[in-house]
Amino acid sequence: MHEYSIVQALIDRVQKEADAHGAEAVNGIRVRIGELSGVEIDLLRSAYDLFSEKSVCEGAELEIVPVPARWTCRGCGAQIRAGEILCCSVCSQPASLAEGDEIILERIEMEVA
Ligand SMILES: [Zn+2]
Repeated sequence: MHEYSIVQALIDRVQKEADAHGAEAVNGIRVRIGELSGVEIDLLRSAYDLFSEKSVCEGAELEIVPVPARWTCRGCGAQIRAGEILCCSVCSQPASLAEGDEIILERIEMEVA
């Protein structure tokens, strides 16, 4: 499942960061999930519960920040809201996605000795 491999990759990243900083424990992580990333947040949570056991993330709280899709005009940079025609009303350039397809590990709360 898509969410399982995402969680596995997240935990690997956290493990690397924890090693790099000599962390004794990880208290929480925060992940930004774009609404167009194809990630089911409920599935991600249950995958995290499963995979975090016996990992560096065991007991660490998973905070998920959902990111709505946002487009901007490639020509003039105007903001184009979701649901509108994905083409700029000012200069007729096609819109490009500025935000909303990301999966980003934004923050790791660690305890360092
Ligand atoms: Zn424009």
